[in-house]
Amino acid sequence: MPQSHAWSRSTSTTATKSPSFWTTGRALMLTAFASSLTYVVGISDMGSFLNNAAAEAPAYAKKPQMENAVSELRSLLGEDAISTEDDDLQRHGYSEWSSVNIEQLPIAIAYPQRTEDVSQIAKVCSKYKIPMVPFSGGTSLEANFSAPYGGVCIDFAMMGNILAVHEDDMDCVVQPSIGWMDLNEQIKNTGLFFPVDPGPTAMIGGMVGTSCSGTNAVRYGTMKDNVVNLTVVLADGRIIKTRKRPRKSAAGYNLTGLFVGSEGTLGIVTEITLKLSVIPAETSVAVVTFPTIRDAASAAIKILRTGIQIGAMEIMDEVQMEVVNRSGFTKRVWQEVPTMFFKFSGTKGQVKEHIGMVKEISKDNRSKSFEFTSDAEEQKNLWSARKESLWSMLALRKGDEQVWSTDVAVPISRLPDIIEISKKEMDDLGVFTSALGHVGDGNFHEAIIYDAKNPEERKKVEECNIRLVERALEMEGTCTGEHGIGIGKKASLIKELGLETIGVMQSIKRALDPNCLMNPGKIFDMPGMAPIKTL
Ligand SMILES: Cc1cc2nc3c(=O)[nH]c(=O)nc-3n(C[C@H](O)[C@H](O)[C@H](O)COP(=O)(O)OP(=O)(O)OC[C@H]3O[C@@H](n4cnc5c(N)ncnc54)[C@H](O)[C@@H]3O)c2cc1C
Repeated sequence: MPQSHAWSRSTSTTATKSPSFWTTGRALMLTAFASSLTYVVGISDMGSFLNNAAAEAPAYAKKPQMENAVSELRSLLGEDAISTEDDDLQRHGYSEWSSVNIEQLPIAIAYPQRTEDVSQIAKVCSKYKIPMVPFSGGTSLEANFSAPYGGVCIDFAMMGNILAVHEDDMDCVVQPSIGWMDLNEQIKNTGLFFPVDPGPTAMIGGMVGTSCSGTNAVRYGTMKDNVVNLTVVLADGRIIKTRKRPRKSAAGYNLTGLFVGSEGTLGIVTEITLKLSVIPAETSVAVVTFPTIRDAASAAIKILRTGIQIGAMEIMDEVQMEVVNRSGFTKRVWQEVPTMFFKFSGTKGQVKEHIGMVKEISKDNRSKSFEFTSDAEEQKNLWSARKESLWSMLALRKGDEQVWSTDVAVPISRLPDIIEISKKEMDDLGVFTSALGHVGDGNFHEAIIYDAKNPEERKKVEECNIRLVERALEMEGTCTGEHGIGIGKKASLIKELGLETIGVMQSIKRALDPNCLMNPGKIFDMPGMAPIKTL
């Protein structure tokens, strides 16, 4: 029976009230201690160390109350709106992309059709103290949508419409489950597009959740820069709008910015107004090879300093180029050396001028070859190595092997340092890893192939990840440029920002979600939370 599976995997999520000894400050100190231990033992989830610090632990519903809540939701929203099917629970509680997965699954999946349905769900969950986990495209990489405390996963599959396109205002209003690629396909006749480009099947709700970006960020910014306003359902079911629709507003706190990147831990986004950009009249792609990553990065810095508006500027190391060749996914064979991929856009004259400038700067930085094209088909061909990079890595997996994709960002001048040091560390540890990056933003990714069933290998990969983050932080960087924190990088966040800053985040969380129902166990722990069991 589908339901019984869900319950059987549920661990008790009920916690007792804590002794007053556990003030927030003490719990935070323990969190810090746990964090350093986490680094020592190489576990990214520090929840287990907090188990004894049950200060004001969130008290979630027990099984009978959860069953009552599910029946209540069914009678309010209809039988079809709530699923407890095994497959459905599994699909929403596990991700093969994720750096970490957990034992627990959600107890039910809710499929709302409108904002008011989401509000009803929140009211019922709030009444019974049931965690709520929003879900859009399911492509996030740090267990951002997993359900460590069970609860209801809210899947927006039935809310994937474009509600309005305001061509003259260059914005549109959408529901959470429209994919960014689908959106662009549907609005292409307006001459406008939405430029933020993460995983191909990511959807706008989840993109708001992680404040993602992609290859276009160097020109158009990240999700944070491209959201005008949000409609948000709060934990208790209240519906708020963060602001109106002008491109600029100095009216009060920037609540839009607060919710973008909050990974569903503060509220559930049900409508999003997005800024649109003009589809460029002319585009061109260039591929440039360099003898070293340092030469490539140094060219990137010089190019940015000219003020040219580059459409995209990506870097791939020699290993990644070799991986693309081995996969055979592209029509041509690439040189296996550090390579940069550029997109140019603008008027014909601008594109021509910019290509000339980039060629000159590349030459000054020891480039070995420079190819460019304005032909539409040939552009796809030249860009194909970048496009197929992750899929090529995935294709190399054998048996139980998985790809761990991690990201950090540093001030751009430190990019060659971090890439070089990390590559050496990975080699020393004997793991197979490739590097690629959104070089214009100082953001780079490592994709590591490892045998998920081999604890030794898993440990090595975790160690690589820890070292990479430590390197980035030493260089005044961040533990994540775009993938977010989820469960996987909670310890890193404490290292990055420190206890005072996390304490402010906890205060904001408490103000909006006093019972810790919104996507609990993500970004940071609240005092006294039960440990999360990872798979
Ligand atoms: C092949 C591949 C390539 C990728 N490339 C990039 C890249 O270049 N750049 C990049 O930034 N990322 C990249 N990613 C990661 C991923 O695509 C992004 O994190 C994306 O923003 C996730 O969107 P989603 O719709 O899949 O969100 P989900 O995974 O469904 O959710 C992400 C988070 O948002 C929350 N959430 C979902 N919907 C809502 C809502 N309606 N309201 C509030 N919170 C919500 C979830 O609870 C979760 O915490 C890549 C992933 C893959 C698999």
